[in-house]
Amino acid sequence: MATAKEFQGSKPTWCPGCGDFAVLSCLQTALSELGYEPHQVCVCSGIGCSGKISQHLSSYGFHGLHGRAVPLATGVKLANPELTVICSGGDGDGYGIGLSHSLHAMRRNIDLTYIVMDNNIYGLTTGQLSPTSQKGFKSKTSPSGSAEDPIRPLELALAAGCSFVAQGFSGEPKELTQLYKEAIRHQGFSLVNVFSPCVTFNKINTYEFFKENLVRAADQPGYDPADRLAAMKIAADTGSLVTGILYREERPPYHEVMIGGGDLPAVRAEVVLPPAEQEALLAQFA
Ligand code: SF4
Repeated sequence: MATAKEFQGSKPTWCPGCGDFAVLSCLQTALSELGYEPHQVCVCSGIGCSGKISQHLSSYGFHGLHGRAVPLATGVKLANPELTVICSGGDGDGYGIGLSHSLHAMRRNIDLTYIVMDNNIYGLTTGQLSPTSQKGFKSKTSPSGSAEDPIRPLELALAAGCSFVAQGFSGEPKELTQLYKEAIRHQGFSLVNVFSPCVTFNKINTYEFFKENLVRAADQPGYDPADRLAAMKIAADTGSLVTGILYREERPPYHEVMIGGGDLPAVRAEVVLPPAEQEALLAQFA
């Protein structure tokens, strides 16, 4: 079993105080506590401050194109179902340009854990309106305040058939680590939306804002994470300001269904090149 320190990759260059530090360290702790070695894990990420996470974690990794982390992670999982696949990106990457990929991966129940570092703004490009920015939010691209209602990722995921829906907060690392462990253990698509404050460009959705406004799903009387409609209701009633596991259902992940149906081995046999052709292909990039 590797220690959390052994999961450390290159040193992050995020701004001091950025919520992404906790997103990363909690993931390293969760992987260690689950007993993983770095070679058993692959992290695929998109573009943005969040996308750098695949470099800061010592495991297999792929830093892909903007909004394409989920299809990339899907390909990795189907090519090698033995790997534990983590996918990560920000709210702009995942809920803007990449949204449709996520919804289809959810309904297919691809076995991966999707961590969205949600800071309600585009940070890397220095502070523009994102899909989760609140109505009235002032930014470089909305100087008079946003006229748009924000997208609601939890309700979208529930409607899309996501089999594990959770939300955490960088300011609550113990809870976040536990959510990661449950999400990684889950067989199927797990969404963990993480409120990860951008301390440089977002002065509204701060650590203090989330500490004052978040409630825990588990503290709500009679809350049952097996009830999809109850999960919808709590997300709507709280304006999505809720943490914990909102919904979890057991159903077979995509690769098991495909292997069971006999299609996946045939597809894989077609796409895996013979060794000589692999070497010739690699030589072109040497
Ligand atoms: Fe974090 Fe914002 Fe700095 Fe990016 S710009 S590293 S999101 S604080």
